[in-house]
Amino acid sequence: MSINLYEKANEFLVGGVNSPVRSFKLTGLTPIFVEKANGKYIYSSEGKKYTDYCLSWGAIILGHNSKIVRKEVKKAIKKGLSFGLCHRYETELARLVQNAFPSMERMRFVNSGTEAVMSAIRLARAFTKRKKILKFDGCYHGHVDTLLVKSGSGVGELKESSSEGIPKEFISFTISIPFNDVELLRKVFKYDGKELACVIVEPVPANMGVVTPDENFLFEIEKLCKQYETLLVFDEVITGFRVSPGGAQEIFGLKPDLTILGKIIGGGMPVGCFGGRKEIMEMLAPIGNVYQAGTLAGNPVAMRSGISVLKYLLENKSIYSRQRELLDYFKKEWEKKRIPFQLNVFSTIFSIFYTTKEVKNYLDAKSQDIEKFKKFYTKLLENGIFFPPSCFEACFLSLKHDEKDLEKIIKIFYF
Ligand code: PMP
Repeated sequence: MSINLYEKANEFLVGGVNSPVRSFKLTGLTPIFVEKANGKYIYSSEGKKYTDYCLSWGAIILGHNSKIVRKEVKKAIKKGLSFGLCHRYETELARLVQNAFPSMERMRFVNSGTEAVMSAIRLARAFTKRKKILKFDGCYHGHVDTLLVKSGSGVGELKESSSEGIPKEFISFTISIPFNDVELLRKVFKYDGKELACVIVEPVPANMGVVTPDENFLFEIEKLCKQYETLLVFDEVITGFRVSPGGAQEIFGLKPDLTILGKIIGGGMPVGCFGGRKEIMEMLAPIGNVYQAGTLAGNPVAMRSGISVLKYLLENKSIYSRQRELLDYFKKEWEKKRIPFQLNVFSTIFSIFYTTKEVKNYLDAKSQDIEKFKKFYTKLLENGIFFPPSCFEACFLSLKHDEKDLEKIIKIFYF
């Protein structure tokens, strides 16, 4: 049935999809078409049930179709779907975000992570009056022209490290270097530091699979940024409200100049957000001259969906220690069984890399054995386990996942 749906989709949608990784291209399989999702499960149009570790690419944390969110969304839609004007729920969501991310003194909501990143970069350039930006290979910051340079996520599957359709001139101010390479980082700053508007980084990269920053790496970035008056931009679209309420910056005790959020803060609805130091953010229109706008930005249904999730998370922080406990257990079992693949865990997120080598950067991630990935991916699916359909992505847990679910994964890899 999915094959039929996929064929039909291909008649209208490019490649049958609205986002490339959903096509299952890397797996060599036909994409699953989802009929419904509930709790930790997704149900395919063929009537198959899967335990979901993709969770709408990390946007869902309470579990699919959560009553908590549904109740609030129902209340919202009774009052109208879109106003395109100010309303109090924008302020309420911003207050909750700031509660967890004090570095976001002022913020603005948009409709996607990509949009938020694009605007943050514009702002960083305007504030510093500089052109260059530094990013890290394998980090993905949405499909922003200037950042599609050695990106992770779906771009990792393309032969070219960048995308076609982006003039060389557009990316001529983008520098991309390997993550966790302090020496190279210092060198870049030495030569280009005074021209760098910002460093943008996923503090815990999750788009080449999950990679842990070496002990001093983020601190060194922060130090160099301060020294050269370059803005530090943390892209916490995945890590925000995921690895801890206040994201990776809370865990590491760092204070970026700008932060990007998305996914969880919309509770499953399309929301992105960028925010940071007041003096930088106030360069945005209507106060300043950096232009940015959005017809559906601050949509009341999306705002209230996000409010319901953030309120729950901020009132029930034990959800994070519970998820960490689960992944500690998973890691211990994985090691005990001597499974010959690399398992990277950071706080509440994880990735399996189909290699025996330690994965600390994009090059390591790219050394994976894709054939092995395909084989195990098929096995996972056959056993009712849904991972993101690529070996360059992160896996997530919801409120509903437990030890038994993780044991089922172990069984697939150890037999
Ligand atoms: N930044 C990061 C770290 C992401 O993981 C993503 C999407 N996976 C984005 C930005 C782009 O967000 P969106 O897909 O909502 O445009």
